[in-house]
Amino acid sequence: MAKILAVLYPDPVGGYPPDYARDEIPAITGYPGGQTTPTPQTIDFTPGQLLGSVSGELGLRRFLEDRGDTYVVTSDKEAPDSTLDRELPDADVVISQPFWPAYLTAERIASAPRLKLAITAGIGSDHVDLPSAIAHGMTVAEVTFSNSISVSEHAVMQILTLVHNYMPAHDWVTAKKGWNIADSVSRAYDLEGMDVGVLGSGRIGQAVLRRLAPFDVRLHYSDVHRLPKEVEEELELTWHPDARSLASSVDVLSIHTPLHPQTQNLFDDDLIGAMKRGSYIVNTARALIVDRDAVVRALNSGQLAGYAGDVWYPQPPPPDHPWRTMPYEAMTPHVSGSTLSAQARYAAGTREILECWFDGRPIRPEYLIVDGGGLAGTGARSYTVTG
Ligand code: NAD
Repeated sequence: MAKILAVLYPDPVGGYPPDYARDEIPAITGYPGGQTTPTPQTIDFTPGQLLGSVSGELGLRRFLEDRGDTYVVTSDKEAPDSTLDRELPDADVVISQPFWPAYLTAERIASAPRLKLAITAGIGSDHVDLPSAIAHGMTVAEVTFSNSISVSEHAVMQILTLVHNYMPAHDWVTAKKGWNIADSVSRAYDLEGMDVGVLGSGRIGQAVLRRLAPFDVRLHYSDVHRLPKEVEEELELTWHPDARSLASSVDVLSIHTPLHPQTQNLFDDDLIGAMKRGSYIVNTARALIVDRDAVVRALNSGQLAGYAGDVWYPQPPPPDHPWRTMPYEAMTPHVSGSTLSAQARYAAGTREILECWFDGRPIRPEYLIVDGGGLAGTGARSYTVTG
């Protein structure tokens, strides 16, 4: 029987379960383009429950224990001698979410001779050292599309939040008990008429473009895979051959590529400096795609008018992380892909992957990042392992 180790984020400080704001979530059965939502044989949770925290257990305990498997769930992953490090050496499967990633470094993978499967309950498997996973003969799988629309909605929200100067205006009426119209509007603009671009026009990037089209903006994108001509014409998109061409052409840039050697540290002083003065960057992809301190410098100098996103490095970030105190930000913790709506889909998808794995059935190719000794499925399309 197998040992499955799940590293999940801590329960709410107010206790588990929380008081839910709504009684149900909409039933979604398919994604744009025709991919179906996850199809496990059954689920042991009610969609809309908090599943991603330790007590939520991704709704997997009954399924795994009925099979006779051992299911260990912890949020303890960083301290020396963490539960993750103690439980890893005889684990067969590790599950974690990008919001509270179990960083499966080369050293950790080497410490786990039985480890054959790493599942990302969500999307984005950069917390796994992919070359080491390949060398170790592992499969790395994620629940592709499960939270793509969630993230696209969050990115559009953060674009509007920055451009309209929402956070400082909110602060004036709540924390500061004021009514400071001039202070609130002196950095507020409309999005209408601006040039807005996405880097990466995959599932999330394309959803962002579609959601922004009704705002009467000029849309731009760059991706190593150019979109079909019909899509470019329908959304009136301008394609750019590289990130520099895109970045220097837009007022607002939203980042939607995976983190891999070709995107790591892409937005450094040089590339941010090539943008128009007063540009905005929203990054819900991965923090290491931008140079942390270059962002702070650009906000302080006025080169960037605002920066928002939900991704940090490391996660959780230390209390003195400079993005907690930099000006003109609208940061959140890494939450966009972990709405209760998204959790229902990625918990079901995690179960679907486990059912396939235990039954010896193929995992859907779109869920695969690494398999068979190399990048596979979505991994082969969207990631690289060398620069
Ligand atoms: P996807 O695979 O559908 O799309 C990624 C796109 O990026 C692909 O079209 C790919 O061709 C493109 N790309 C890759 N490298 C590139 C490069 N060097 N230059 C230009 N384009 C490049 O993935 P997705 O579902 O859209 O997710 C994208 C990323 O968003 C994930 O890998 C993950 O890191 C992040 N994400 C974040 C959250 C969150 O909660 N904040 C949730 C889900 C995903």
